[in-house]
Amino acid sequence: MATDPPPSFTALGLSPAMAQAAAAVGWALPTAIQAAALPAVLDGHDLLALAPTGSGKTAAFLLPLLQRLLDTPDQQAERPRRLRLLVLSPTRELALQTAAAARSLCGGLADGPAGAAAAAIKIVAAVGGAAISPQMMALRGGADLVLATPGRLLDLLSHRALSLADVGALVLDEADRLLDQGFADEINRLLALLPADRQTLLLSATLPEAVVALAGQVLHQPVRVEAPASDLAALPDITQRAFLVDSARRTPLLRQLISSEGWTRVLVFVATQYASEHVADKLQRAGVTAEALHGRQSPGRRARVLGELKAGRLTVLVATDLAARGLDLPGLPVVVNHDLPRSAVDHLHRIGRTGRAGAQGLAVSFICADAPGNEAHFQLIEKRQQQRVAREQVAGFEPAASPLAPLSPLPADPTGGIKGKRKSKKDKLREAAAAAAAEARAAPRRRSGPR
Ligand code: AMP
Repeated sequence: MATDPPPSFTALGLSPAMAQAAAAVGWALPTAIQAAALPAVLDGHDLLALAPTGSGKTAAFLLPLLQRLLDTPDQQAERPRRLRLLVLSPTRELALQTAAAARSLCGGLADGPAGAAAAAIKIVAAVGGAAISPQMMALRGGADLVLATPGRLLDLLSHRALSLADVGALVLDEADRLLDQGFADEINRLLALLPADRQTLLLSATLPEAVVALAGQVLHQPVRVEAPASDLAALPDITQRAFLVDSARRTPLLRQLISSEGWTRVLVFVATQYASEHVADKLQRAGVTAEALHGRQSPGRRARVLGELKAGRLTVLVATDLAARGLDLPGLPVVVNHDLPRSAVDHLHRIGRTGRAGAQGLAVSFICADAPGNEAHFQLIEKRQQQRVAREQVAGFEPAASPLAPLSPLPADPTGGIKGKRKSKKDKLREAAAAAAAEARAAPRRRSGPR
């Protein structure tokens, strides 16, 4: 049976001009989170959105809030402009990316009937890791929309570069990461400077207790929306593949895949800053153009290597989760989990880097056959995503031991373990307990026996 087509943006209350601007940046039809959030935000309600990267969460707040901004033009004829819309982001990259999306939308609007008003909207990114004076200059004369990281925003406030007294709408984007990164104090200080009478939107990929508490503190009778789990994998067109390999053979396997599969631009995820340098180094020495991307690098360096990947001058970028957070790499064809992510949510964040804006993407995971728990960890991720990814092996890179044994049991070997499978910690503990019990049973006999 045919399912109903999704509603159009205009059916959700967006103006035809805004819907046109969305279409111009490649957003023809709303995603589920956008369909759920738009009417509530346009009506002026507070919003609690459980929506990770990849669900279209940025547009879910930008589209309706920009429309509200345009619908209620600033009547104040005199300068400076009053800051009416404030978005707080956990990272510089996310803030810059959101600013870029807002500028694209206003650019699209400026070409349409809303022309002059949209063109006049002033957008400023106020982010750490960059010189403060250009941002102070940019804020001279005020701004309509500011996208900020909390620490820099406080710095700018202490320099009296802007005022929060007229903010009509506040967005806390990726609230779980804002708190993870220790911004709770900064957020509280900023809240004290914001008008109580405002619309607040809180978006988060997860809802740990701290986020629930923050939501309780900042939101007033919010409408709650949630990206359906199936939407996460379904929105971007992502194919997943998983390769079984021994841990020491992962980088050589990556090299092999780059050449056999013809990958031209790959974002590789690793668990630590050290691994990011180490793997990039190994690839470079093997003749693959590769760079590391991690939080200890200067913002300038990070921007440079990202630019190189975008321009196609770099084949591989080896990144940590934090550094790659919020990156929009248009048309990125391949993401590789060299190290598995810590959680299913991180996995979604990672694979959401590819297959963006309707493009086809490939997400590859290396499962270490020799790392205890790696297979089970990946199975948990699969379970959370309600899908199963076939395990593949590449000739010449077959693992010495297969972790698949529990899924397709092999005949028991005489030692009690499963043939072809290394003994797990649990197996060893169980064996030790059995040996101790046997010894205990034998002990009295030994004691009573001849000396
Ligand atoms: P986000 O969850 O905001 O990080 O967005 C994930 C990706 O989806 C971005 O590359 C957006 O450009 C894209 N996107 C957002 N909304 C839509 C839409 N309605 N249709 C297609 N792509 C979209």
